[in-house]
Amino acid sequence: MEVLYKSTRSDIAPVKASQAILKGLSDDGGLFVPDHIPALDKSLSELSKMSYKEVAYEVMKLFLTDFTEEELKNCINKAYDSKFDTEVIAPLVEADGAYYLELFHGATIAFKDMALSILPHLLITSAKKNNVKNEIVILTATSGDTGKAALAGFAEVEGTKIIVFYPKNGVSPIQEKQMVTQKGANTHVIGIHGNFDDAQTGVKQLFNDKELAKEMEEAGYQFSSANSINIGRLVPQIVYYVYAYAQLLAEGEVKEGETINVVVPTGNFGNILAAFYAKNMGLPIGKLICASNDNKVLYDFFKTGTYDRNREFVLTTSPSMDILISSNLERLIYRIAGADSKKNAELMSALSGEGKYTITEDMKAQLKDFYGNYASEAETAQLIKALYEDCGYVIDTHTAVAASVYGKYKKDTADETKTVIASTASPFKFTRSVMEAIDTKYSSMGDFELVDELSKIANVSVPNAIEEIRTAPVVHNTVCDRTEMKEKVKEFLGIN
Ligand SMILES: *Cc1c(COP(=O)(O)O)cnc(C)c1O
Repeated sequence: MEVLYKSTRSDIAPVKASQAILKGLSDDGGLFVPDHIPALDKSLSELSKMSYKEVAYEVMKLFLTDFTEEELKNCINKAYDSKFDTEVIAPLVEADGAYYLELFHGATIAFKDMALSILPHLLITSAKKNNVKNEIVILTATSGDTGKAALAGFAEVEGTKIIVFYPKNGVSPIQEKQMVTQKGANTHVIGIHGNFDDAQTGVKQLFNDKELAKEMEEAGYQFSSANSINIGRLVPQIVYYVYAYAQLLAEGEVKEGETINVVVPTGNFGNILAAFYAKNMGLPIGKLICASNDNKVLYDFFKTGTYDRNREFVLTTSPSMDILISSNLERLIYRIAGADSKKNAELMSALSGEGKYTITEDMKAQLKDFYGNYASEAETAQLIKALYEDCGYVIDTHTAVAASVYGKYKKDTADETKTVIASTASPFKFTRSVMEAIDTKYSSMGDFELVDELSKIANVSVPNAIEEIRTAPVVHNTVCDRTEMKEKVKEFLGIN
């Protein structure tokens, strides 16, 4: 049965999957949502015999119904190849009574690779299907992780160019090095004098610049976004939950149909929403445990029913979760409002006006499968140290937030259901925070010294993504003011 994509903010005509991927955001500012969640049409035991790519096909074909089998398999094959350092793609590691689903074996060693390695292929396939002749120009502002993952995903992909703006003094040295050493003639990385909000605002203005759009069209280009609200990023994320369950079944860790819980370290709410969709497809998931850091806007929301972004923004050691507006939550709000776009639009307008909204008791009752909690900086560091000392397993700061929250959940509920923790980054991506959590003696060491030390104590070889930047030459060194962003884009595209 065909799945069409509706907007969360009005009842404009639904679009096909390929059109939703091309557009990213609906014209009314809403997010695209599937008009129904398809049920898995293979049994769990059938899925347990499949490879990651095969499971990816079985899941994605149900959502991207206007892609042919050949098109979709082609995208999957191009995405989940030797860019990943294991053929399993997303391995499960058992430690201290939980299963860590390692989503960091791709090119940039964070879970964003799971979706950003396939998005470019979904996008160019969608362009072909819709007779778009223009070259697609991806324009992104980044606070670190997304920029590099998008660059790695789009580098050398024919028919695309990618331009990434980042705050010159607002990303970690490793993150900056990762971006400015990016290879690929179709990639362009620019630092701006300003913070992430400046970069983000500048990019939004470029997207809305009618004059620029016209000049681009004449030169055979059009903008698109690799942002986490694109359904081309959401759908590939459903796959690894199904795959995780299939692996547990294959290894005899669960019986067919046995319920599992999942814990997800959450920022923009994309990853945990994918788990929720997997549950609604029929995957036996019980609780969806939403883990936050000190920016605990979601914890407060699940507790009180009020989403309130009016609070201090806290910088933590899990920066990819330092977010006060979780964009993808809108898809859940729309759903618990009974697919009522008018009701959802009212709440979202309250959010952009007053910075907060409150859901009804009826809506709150539909959130019973979610459990929210948070971990402080001290709790996060403590967990990294304890897990290392007890099991020899080293996890990154984001995953540690999730593991700490899982501990709180078990204490609160005494629920002993088998549990998968989404492990969203390699500890090598946040080496300094991880090593300092394990022992304060590491604070005097240099960045790459720490990398080697981590490799030793965790008994894991240094990932390629880190090895590469030790010696890679800087190839992007443009820095500009916020007001010069448009000029830089035109320069890169050769438009005058
Ligand atoms: C992006 C990111 C998250 C948050 O994921 P969302 O889908 O935005 O909730 C968590 N951990 C890491 C390492 C990330 O890069």
